[in-house]
Amino acid sequence: MSVSFQSVCKRPGKFMTGKLIVFTAPSGTGKSTIAKAILADIPTLKFSVSATTREKRDGEEHGREYFFLTREAFEAEIARHGFIEYSKHFDNYYGTLKSEAEKVLNAGHHLLLDLDVDGALNVKKYYGKHSLLLFIKPPSLEVLKERLMKRKTESPDKVLMRLARADYELSLADQFDASVVNDDLQSAISEVKQIVQNFLNS
Ligand code: ADP
Ligand code: 5GP
Repeated sequence: MSVSFQSVCKRPGKFMTGKLIVFTAPSGTGKSTIAKAILADIPTLKFSVSATTREKRDGEEHGREYFFLTREAFEAEIARHGFIEYSKHFDNYYGTLKSEAEKVLNAGHHLLLDLDVDGALNVKKYYGKHSLLLFIKPPSLEVLKERLMKRKTESPDKVLMRLARADYELSLADQFDASVVNDDLQSAISEVKQIVQNFLNS
């Protein structure tokens, strides 16, 4: 697959009181849907809004789903070491802003991150037992394709790029702390909630 990856990770500074929970899934699996439900149920858990250079989808807001940056602004942020981690795929940058993570953790909350596999494995490398990596799997690649088409946020060629990347991501799922299949949505939400609560209480 002709996708290039580039990830870096800066060691955490003083902000290590909270825990980090990382959700990873092939695009279209239902990760954002599950994350919204979990955030509504666990008030001590706050979403870390990432920065990206990809185009805003209908219904998305700057500062809510992502901070939508130009390529120049993103690269300036890289140069001043503003990211805990970042990666580049689908021709766009995605990264976790140090300032956002610090804001949440310094307020005494736990952090929910929505990252690709590379970002997730970097977080584990640096945050160790303070982090939980949860992989959310689609029931099958066929179902994944249906969900991506149904969401209507990507053109057919972009759907194909996301499906191609899904193979790579699924091949790394074994390196995660836990995985849940998102077949029936309510069952997946309950299962994820249980895993997250057990980790936060541990
Ligand atoms: P992701 O954040 O992983 O890219 P989304 O949360 O945007 O995925 O979900 C992709 C699409 O699949 C959305 O239209 C969502 O409503 C739908 N979806 C999510 N979970 C399920 C499920 N268990 N069954 C059927 N459709 C689902
Ligand atoms: P989407 O374009 O569908 O919103 O996201 C594409 C991919 O980028 C998803 O796998 C998502 O988890 C990942 N992603 C979102 N934010 C970040 C981030 O800050 N860092 C990394 N490494 N990946 C991210």
